[in-house]
Parts: sequence; C-alpha cells; structure tokens
Amino acid sequence: MKFDIITILPEAFDSYLNSSLLARAQGKELLDVNVWNLRDWATDPHKTVDDRPYGGGAGMVLKVDIAARVLKKLVPRKNKKTRIINFNPQGKLLTQRKVEGLAKKYDRLVLLCGRYEGFDARVEKLVDEEISIGDYVLTGGELPALVLLDAVSRQVPGVVGKEESILHESFSLAPKTRFATLVQGQAKELRLLEHPHYTRPEVFEWKGKKYRVPKVLLSGNHAAIQKWRDEQSLSKTKKNRPDLLVKQ
Ligand code: SAM
Repeated sequence: MKFDIITILPEAFDSYLNSSLLARAQGKELLDVNVWNLRDWATDPHKTVDDRPYGGGAGMVLKVDIAARVLKKLVPRKNKKTRIINFNPQGKLLTQRKVEGLAKKYDRLVLLCGRYEGFDARVEKLVDEEISIGDYVLTGGELPALVLLDAVSRQVPGVVGKEESILHESFSLAPKTRFATLVQGQAKELRLLEHPHYTRPEVFEWKGKKYRVPKVLLSGNHAAIQKWRDEQSLSKTKKNRPDLLVKQ
C-alpha cells in the first residue's frame, strides 16, 4: 500500500513512521510512505500557502490552487485504485468499516492535511472524499493522516505479525453465527467491542485489594473460554457502545 501525505509540517511524521510496526512494514516494503511539503509547490519567494478568508473573519485559509498543483504532480493520471482524501472535521466519520474498505479497494491513498481554517472549500472538487476522525477539532490534519495510515496499514497482509489478532478486534466483523443466540434482530453487520485480556500475575494486589484473573481463563476449556469471551464482548458493547447494536 502506498501513501502520499501532503502537509506543511512534514517533520511531524518522522518519529511515528520510524517506530515499531510501521517502520518494520516499510522495511519489508509492505508500505511505501512519502511525505510531501505543500510549501514546495508555492510560487512566491516566501513560500506562502495560505491567505485571508473572503468575507472576513479570524484564521487563514490554505490555497486551493497550490493543492491543485501538488495533486496534478503526484497524481497526473488517476486510476481507480488511487483515492484522494482531504481531512476535515466536517467530513464523513472514519470507522473500522471504512478503514477495511479503503484497504481492500485501493493500493494508493493520497492524504491532504489541512491547517488553520483548512483548505479553501473548493478543494472538495479535487479530492474523492473528506474524512473526519471524530467529533472534535484538532489543529491540523497530520494526526488524522497518521490515524488513517495506521488503521489502514493494519489491514495490509503481513503488517501485523499474527493476522488472526486483527480478525477479532473491536469493531471488526463478528461471526454472526456465534452471536446469533446472544444478539437478536441485529443488522446485517455485527461489530462489537473485543473481550478483555489478562496476563501474569494471576493475582494482582492494588491498594489492599486482590484482583484475580477470571477462573474460566485458567480452565483450559476452550468452548467455555469462547463463550465467556463472547458474553464479555457483548456486555461491554451494551455498556459502552450501545449504538453498535442498533439495527441499521
Ligand atoms: N474551521 C474548521 C471547522 O471548524 O470545521 C476546523 C479547522 S482545523 C483547526 C484545521 C485542520 O485540521 C482541518 O482543515 C483538518 O485538516 C484538520 N482537522 C481538525 N480536526 C479534524 C478532525 N476531527 N478530523 C479530520 N481532520 C481534522
């Protein structure tokens, strides 16, 4: 999977892209990440990329003509395996379902990171879609770009060591047959929160209290463990994310 990230803060990506799983995946050539400085496409001596908003008001606006220039250069001929995305808190919300779709349908993602008040609204004409990573406002699109890159990369075969571990994660498709008796009248897709995990020590003491690992996990009874995990998964979803259980 190839990523092209366009930003005025290229240095913001260095440490995260050079750490752990993502660094390894780039080393194995499973990911190819290029970070481009939007200022390199500015034409004036000051490398200006923003201007005052028409109609007045606080905050500067990133120029659409510069975005067009960089996209023309990086994507001279668009094919259907390339997706151009602008980050915008007003865009459609990023979900695991969306992440899986991006990983499956595309082999190249071109990501535009806004700053200030964002890009001139006409940037919408240059991109395939606008994505928000949540209902809050960040200073720029760099964190959203890293969030999307990280989430999509996990779906690329070979990036996460044990592929099985991504199959049962929170928000991934839950096998309906296993949950059929637990969740009734559910939408065609069932996505739940994952069950809790424990490791040693078996008994953990904190402020005078002892916290034990649930007995079933020590039983060696795989069917009982699976049943317990499914129930935990469902009760956590009901408690924290009942919206996931609403019939769509
Ligand atoms: N004035 C904008 C508004 O109220 O909708 C917010 C602009 S924000 C300060 C600057 C840039 O950060 C945006 O253009 C976008 O690229 C990025 N950004 C901020 N919050 C975001 C979010 N929740 N999801 C995606 N991008 C976000």
